[in-house]
Amino acid sequence: MISKSVFPRHSKADLAVASHGDGCFIVDKAGKRYLDASGGAAVSCLGHSDDSVRRAMIKQTETLAFAHTSFFTSEPAEALADLLIANAPKGVTRAYFVSSGSEAVEAALKLAKQYYVEIGQPERHRIISRRQSYHGNTLGALAAGGNVWRRTFFESMLAETSLIAPCYAYRDQQAGESEYDYGQRVANELETEILAVGADKVMAFLAEPVVGATAGALASVPGYFTRIREICDKYGVLLILDEVMCGMGRTGSFFACEQDHITPDIVTIAKGLGAGYQPIGAALCTDAIYDAIAAGSGFFQHGHTYLGHPVACAASLAVMHRILDDDLCARVRQQGDLLNDRLHARLGQHPFVGDIRGRGLFRGIELVHDRAAKTPFARERNIAGTIKKKALDLGLICYPMQGTINGKQGDHVLIAPPFIIADAEIDQLVDLLGTAIDLSIA
Ligand code: PMP
Repeated sequence: MISKSVFPRHSKADLAVASHGDGCFIVDKAGKRYLDASGGAAVSCLGHSDDSVRRAMIKQTETLAFAHTSFFTSEPAEALADLLIANAPKGVTRAYFVSSGSEAVEAALKLAKQYYVEIGQPERHRIISRRQSYHGNTLGALAAGGNVWRRTFFESMLAETSLIAPCYAYRDQQAGESEYDYGQRVANELETEILAVGADKVMAFLAEPVVGATAGALASVPGYFTRIREICDKYGVLLILDEVMCGMGRTGSFFACEQDHITPDIVTIAKGLGAGYQPIGAALCTDAIYDAIAAGSGFFQHGHTYLGHPVACAASLAVMHRILDDDLCARVRQQGDLLNDRLHARLGQHPFVGDIRGRGLFRGIELVHDRAAKTPFARERNIAGTIKKKALDLGLICYPMQGTINGKQGDHVLIAPPFIIADAEIDQLVDLLGTAIDLSIA
């Protein structure tokens, strides 16, 4: 029975009532089992019934549930920060906790802004990000992204952001152009935009190392982020990497940016940090940023009541121990290769599958109307939405997205299963997904 009092996310959706979790499955009230091929939205990296996380949360609740950070720190928060920093990209030394991905991005933007005010460059305020990017739904994070659909109703409330092209080789690499040259060409758009805005006004460049929801596990070509880092350094622009979706081992390394061989000034994480057990996020930054604030006003002008919540931090600490102690990044690489092989075997020659991409257990499938011409489906056909629905009927949870990148419509399905997924479950996932695609594009 669905309550009339709830304000549902989609008023027209016909939602089942989730009852309980069982490994990689969610079971609804009617007893139907759904294989969670997207971990919700790249959240449930340990599946839905991890004992160690459950035990850690119970234990923490029995000792200390809450202590406001104006008065106390707590052992789980300190330990979690230490472990995150021990595994963070080189030079990233401080962790600031929040309760969601959007809040992590808000905190990152404010860290950047306050840093520039503290060091006497208050005119720097402009963010540059990429078209079709999504960095969260709060007003600051929404303004910093280029997701046209999400912005629609709120445009007049959003701060001005400059948008450059994403690194999207499948669509935009020109004939005769090498992958490397393509990456340099699109990265150089950042320099053009910085100069157009005025180098002294630009505060930060914000991007996902592997684009998740909006582009279906889109990694950049080798050399792209190296060039981005060079341009940021040249103009004193901070590089903020949003790893809310692709971080925490999802792509086979603890931070996705490790595979692009770059270090950010600020990096955000969230989804996999809580693994679905509780809401948490973090913005991690360098000493340079922390020191400027500490030596200046001495107080980061930000904060939420629940930041560094002891139970949330204790759960995340258990999540991190599972990932690190059980070397789940290695497992992600192994199972990711298997998933990739199986996806290629089932869908590689499919007439309506244009591209299969991604890293680790973060894979995207791009649907096209015409393989050779890479023509997307008409928007009205809502192919991704239909696949999601057919998949749910079949007992599979996959994450659909219909987007506009560089003016081109595209349908994607994002696959991001729990790291614990077994070989047989990968076979089942690919089988059900293939059937859902076939049924959706008759
Ligand atoms: N950044 C990225 C890259 C995301 O994918 C998301 C959520 N999909 C967010 C930020 C916002 O996270 P949250 O929904 O937890 O606020």
